[in-house]
Parts: sequence; C-alpha cells; structure tokens
Amino acid sequence: MNNEIIYLDNNATTRTAPEVIEAMAPFFGDNYGNPSSVYRFGGAIRRRVERAREQVAALIGAEPDEIYFTSCGTESDNMALKGFFLEHGAGARLITSAVEHPAVRNTARFIKERGASLTELPVDGSGMIFEDAVDAHEINRNTLVSLMWANNETGVIFPIDKLAQAVKVRGGVFHTDAVQAAGKVVIDVKKTPVDMLALSGHKIHAPKGIGAAYFRAGTPVASLIHGGHQENGARAGTENVPYIIGLGCACELAAERLETENTRVRALRDRLENALLERCGGAKLNGCPENRLPNTVNISFENIEGESILLHLDESGIAAASGSACTTGSLEPSHVMMAMGIPYKYAHSSIRFSLSVYNTDSDIDRVIAVMPGIVDKLRELSPFI
Ligand code: PLP
Repeated sequence: MNNEIIYLDNNATTRTAPEVIEAMAPFFGDNYGNPSSVYRFGGAIRRRVERAREQVAALIGAEPDEIYFTSCGTESDNMALKGFFLEHGAGARLITSAVEHPAVRNTARFIKERGASLTELPVDGSGMIFEDAVDAHEINRNTLVSLMWANNETGVIFPIDKLAQAVKVRGGVFHTDAVQAAGKVVIDVKKTPVDMLALSGHKIHAPKGIGAAYFRAGTPVASLIHGGHQENGARAGTENVPYIIGLGCACELAAERLETENTRVRALRDRLENALLERCGGAKLNGCPENRLPNTVNISFENIEGESILLHLDESGIAAASGSACTTGSLEPSHVMMAMGIPYKYAHSSIRFSLSVYNTDSDIDRVIAVMPGIVDKLRELSPFI
C-alpha cells in the first residue's frame, strides 16, 4: 500500500488508528469467545463489549444502555427511520433536509413510497438550514424529523440544538445523522434533546463495518434484524467483537483529540483554504464559513471539471474528493450543490479536502504548491470557456 499518499479525504473514510488496531488484535486471536456464552471465557468478552459501549456513550454524553452496535452509519440511520415507520405505519410524517446523506435521503424516500408523507426542507446558498425551519410545519407524535448534525460535502453544521428543541416541544421525534460530526464537534445528548442519533466507526479512525445507534431511554427501538437476543433484542446476530472493541477505543481517542481537531486541524484547514482561494483563479468557497466542521473545506474552481482536478491531484499523490465519495463516478453535480443553488459552472467543479489529525504542515504545503498549476492548466483546456 502507498504510505506516501497525502490523504485529504477523511470524510470518505479514515485510517484505522494504530491504537485501535492494537486494541482489536487480541479479539481476532486468543480472545475469540462468544459474549453470550455463560462460561468465564465468554463473560470476559462480554465485559469488554460493555466497556466499549461505555466508551461510545461517553463520546456523546449518553448512557451505555442507550447505545446499540450496528454494522455502519447507514444501518444506524435505517434503524431509526424504518423503525419509526414500522411503529407509525403510513400515518408517519417524515421531515428531512434536501442535503441529507443517501443513508437518510434514500431511506426516507423508500418510506414515502410505502405511504408515509415526506418533506425535504430547503437549505440556503451556504448549505445552512434556518433555525426556524420546522416551525411552519405540522409536527405531532407521528412526525419524525431527521436532520444531519454536519454535512459530509460542505462540513456545514446545522443548529441541531434549536431544531431538536422546536420538534420536541411540539411532541415530534428527532433523529440526527451525526456520522460526520462525531469526534469533530462536542455532542452531548444530555443537553441537546435528540431522541435518536447515528454514528459510524470508519469516520473516526475505527475500521469500516462498525457503527452505533443511540436511542434515548424511553424511545421505542425497533429491530430490523430478527433472531437472537443480542443488543437487547434490537439487533440480532453474534456481535462483531473485535470491531466493537475498536469502535470503543476510537471513541475514546476521538474525545481526547477533540481539542486537537479544533485547533491544529482547523489551523491546517484554514491555511489550505486561504491559500487556495487566494492563489487559484475563479475559486469560491462552498458552505457557510462560520458554522463548519474544523476539518472540511469545499471549493469550486469555476468552469473546470472537479473529476479532472481529482485525477491531476492523484498524479501528485494527493487524495481528495469531488462531491461526496458516494456520488463520485457520476458526473452530475451532487444533490447537495444543487440544493444550495450553486450555478452549474461552480457546482460541477467542487473539490472537497477533508483533513484528520494525521495530516501535517508539509501535506498542506504540497497541495498549496500544486493546485494553482493544476487549475491554470485545466482552465486552458476547459470546454466551458
Ligand atoms: N451519513 C453521513 C453524513 C455520511 O457522511 C456517511 C458516509 O459517508 C454515512 C451516513 C454512511 O456511513 P457508513 O459509511 O458508515 O454507512
């Protein structure tokens, strides 16, 4: 594998932290017991799984018994939305935003096709949703509002506190996809009245294939996978013990690194952003500059195809993204850019750099050194001009 790569695509996935690999290793080896077994070999594993549950809960201010391990953020989102639908049937009312990740967007649309009603709230040109966005909508106990904590493409952070409060006072249920926010901003469900929340391991330096769902005590938890009694009957199937241990470790690390993320990583991001906006012709920032994840910058380079920039960056050993990782491969501007009303000549040319604690000053120097040349060269070749 290429260790020379300058990896700036951490909103797509992250390197598994060495500490996480170390924590998981014994559970691929000698500690292979089944946590459900009654003998001590199983009991010891059960205690480690429960320790991991405490570590995940601690990252978001939850109680351990409010955490359910899943296979990924997508499953956690599905568990919340489809669970709500299973309980409320075609009388369910869903409200989401126009910029949700497909894990929420397509799940909500699937539910709509089965009779529920669905409203996708618009965002403004900076990708932000207004604090009073839900006020004009009818909300009652049959309403689930699902709004992401932070956007994967722009990093824009929604005012979840205010939005969740507005939903709760009117008797609705609130879910948030916190897959991108976890480990980058403070999340405390004791203060923010969300009922359900989704997390993913591979965005916070745990491996791919592990996630967690938070359900506030008292919120009905519907099972999508039936079978044994695991996860309190909410998600059957023998637990993925090594990955659960890894997620616990990653959550603890994320909590410890929150400060670094918001100081050192933010400073690297700001330096990159300022240099690109200054030195690359036709560059324009996408997303609300103030309320943004500290690791994310999304910039459009007028009239140049984002995909072409990516290929040139790749030749220089730099990994970034155009649109979101999930929409790469399609040459249509992403639904996020469209919802923001970004004109085509910019929407088509957006590049996202997303940093992590593993990035260094020299990574940023290198991008700043190569990008203006790439932009100039591609602009000369641009079919749009
Ligand atoms: N939600 C958001 C905001 C994401 O960015 C992603 C992944 O990119 C997901 C959900 C899906 O998470 P996972 O890849 O763990 O299924």
